[in-house]
Amino acid sequence: MPTILDEITSALDFRRFLGPELSDRLRLRGATVDGIEATQTIQYYHAAQHLTDPATRGNDNSVVLAAFKPAWVRVYVRSGLVSAVPGVTGSLTVERRRLGFIWNPVATLAPQAPGSITAQPTADYATERGSTALTLNFIIPAADCYGVLRLTAALTDAGGRSLDTSSVVVNATLQQTLRLRGIMISYSGPPTAVPPPNAPPPPNINLAAPTLANLQSTASRALLAMPVQSTGNFAVAGTIAFTLPLDDARTGAGGCSVNWGTLLTQLATQRTNDGNRSDVVYFGLLPAGMPVNVPGCGNNGLGAGRVGDVATLLHEIGHGYGFAHTPCGAAGTTDANYPNYKPYPSASIGEFGIDISTGNVFPPLATSDYMSYCFPQWMSLYQHERLVGHTRLDPSWIVDTPLWEQYAPWKDYLVPDYIPDPPPGDPWKVAQMRPDPVISIIGVVRSENEVEVTSVARVRAVSTPPGRATALRARLLDADGRELARAPLHELAVQGGGCGCCGDGERKPGEPPYTFQAMIADVAPGAALTIGSAEATLWQRRAPERPPRVSGVRAELTQSGGVRLRWKAESAGESREAWVQWSNREGKVWHGLATGLAGAEAEVSLAGLPAGEALLRVLLHDGFHTAYSEPVRIEVPRRPPETAILAPADGAVLVAGAPMRVWGAATDSAGTPLPDESCLWLLDGKEVGRGTDAWVTAPAAGEHRATLIVRAEGEETRVSSSFTTIRVGEREC
Ligand SMILES: [Zn+2]
Repeated sequence: MPTILDEITSALDFRRFLGPELSDRLRLRGATVDGIEATQTIQYYHAAQHLTDPATRGNDNSVVLAAFKPAWVRVYVRSGLVSAVPGVTGSLTVERRRLGFIWNPVATLAPQAPGSITAQPTADYATERGSTALTLNFIIPAADCYGVLRLTAALTDAGGRSLDTSSVVVNATLQQTLRLRGIMISYSGPPTAVPPPNAPPPPNINLAAPTLANLQSTASRALLAMPVQSTGNFAVAGTIAFTLPLDDARTGAGGCSVNWGTLLTQLATQRTNDGNRSDVVYFGLLPAGMPVNVPGCGNNGLGAGRVGDVATLLHEIGHGYGFAHTPCGAAGTTDANYPNYKPYPSASIGEFGIDISTGNVFPPLATSDYMSYCFPQWMSLYQHERLVGHTRLDPSWIVDTPLWEQYAPWKDYLVPDYIPDPPPGDPWKVAQMRPDPVISIIGVVRSENEVEVTSVARVRAVSTPPGRATALRARLLDADGRELARAPLHELAVQGGGCGCCGDGERKPGEPPYTFQAMIADVAPGAALTIGSAEATLWQRRAPERPPRVSGVRAELTQSGGVRLRWKAESAGESREAWVQWSNREGKVWHGLATGLAGAEAEVSLAGLPAGEALLRVLLHDGFHTAYSEPVRIEVPRRPPETAILAPADGAVLVAGAPMRVWGAATDSAGTPLPDESCLWLLDGKEVGRGTDAWVTAPAAGEHRATLIVRAEGEETRVSSSFTTIRVGEREC
């Protein structure tokens, strides 16, 4: 069928009047490229058309793209005629720059479903920007999205005739990774802290510790919204057996609840046992059925939340990157530097965001920053910029300019005794992260003159605890009372997390009660440890007469995939607590496995350990000194792959006929990603793709099921999610 354009040009018969060259140039005006936007989570595009304060605007596509994460390329199309031009389609050519000036072809992409659009002579900015249905869309797959890219959109009509071409250059030069170490929490205890009055106490419930796959699926929103590559780096940093329900009442202004405070001190202890790494964020993962009042809590890399609560994980790890709340809702003290993106409400994300898995657009008028207490939430321009190059994401830049190589490598730089696992790309960071011998003191400052210490341990860990330093000091003294070393107490929960946790009233930093950690340099055995201010000593512990000893460790694998450990302990100190660490590198680097063990035996989970030989050792703390056992060798059994569907999420609602992402995580039991060939996707039982990250067209309106099958080393894991597709227009507002 001839297009309107064909009809007009033939009716006017331009060629006879104007000659072939000029008439072709006029034909090209049938539809033109008005602009190209390349976006992954949020992007500037024609900012002057909606941001009224010039200080908050940015150039088109100036938000850097993350390498190895898919990008949506939205081509904005205009009719050059007075009427609309239907059936405009085209292609997108992707080229990558090499040596600073050579453009190498990467791919020529076809548009995403439905594959063509109607070009309008004019468009309302917010309407067009607010819906991917109004642009011609292309998706650069994760594997191709890196380096400096030149994107050339070529528009054609239904007959394949060229209408217009236009190019932009975008940067996908930022390579960084979401690095999470999950502390898995099992629960055995009462179903509630507030049982109904005048009734017998309800029976205890037992909830198994979550798995690495649970951590990966709960991190799906974080992987999507943050400037990080599609595949994260996940590991288990030990397991905690918790026994208190978390639905107890909020403490007054500032605190979460008494039981949350107890959990935070246990998480801090576990993190210390793991070396308190500065290139990751720790997250305590609670079972989905955990009784809670506040959904999540914590701060400074010590957040915790339940399996499946994707929004809480994103928010809590935001505190782990050092972010404060942003000004919307009852969020307490908020970040004073958060920009006012006029004309939008406070804590607006500032530009149009996108969920690349679905093509959903987040308008700045109705979307709040994810560190605020208003909803819906998404990544803002402000937090995006602060995550670019963040040390806890192991950032590096992809550079292609000539002669760069000679500046890039670090010559023969090696840290002999310690290399973190996984190692960061940059050896200077290895040096920064080298753990120091420290005395870690963890506890709760109950009031102005009352300090409760729950753990004292001498270990190797990165010696700065996250969190704000308070005015109180911990000191190591010699027998004559002279100070050998000192360090400030760091407050572990400055702002209540979890949103809704600490909304009532303002709490000043350093105002009790709060959980704390202090890390004093372990320079000498010493004779006493104290905590206090310049004027008064609030807590003191003297060295016991003889240091503790731990020996005779025996390990036996159990049916349930754990290990039963027995040891001999001797101590004369005030308290006695055992920790367990593991190493698969002959003891060059140790990771945390368990903490808070009383007695002389325990069953410990081996979740997250790589299959094969590993060493275990027991640390015995007497409240002043720490003894280390000789390591014992175990053989960690091979287990099935850890597999999670990140998109389509279970219960998701998608638009039929629109692009749909099938995105999963597939790792071995230790968190090492498996190759793409190991992964197969089924949609309603039929094979639709391979690899962890692929795009298909969403099926016809109705109920559907996506299945990810992962095969590795003779083991197979299958996971499924159920989702619904609807026709456009049916979606509820
Ligand atoms: Zn918070």
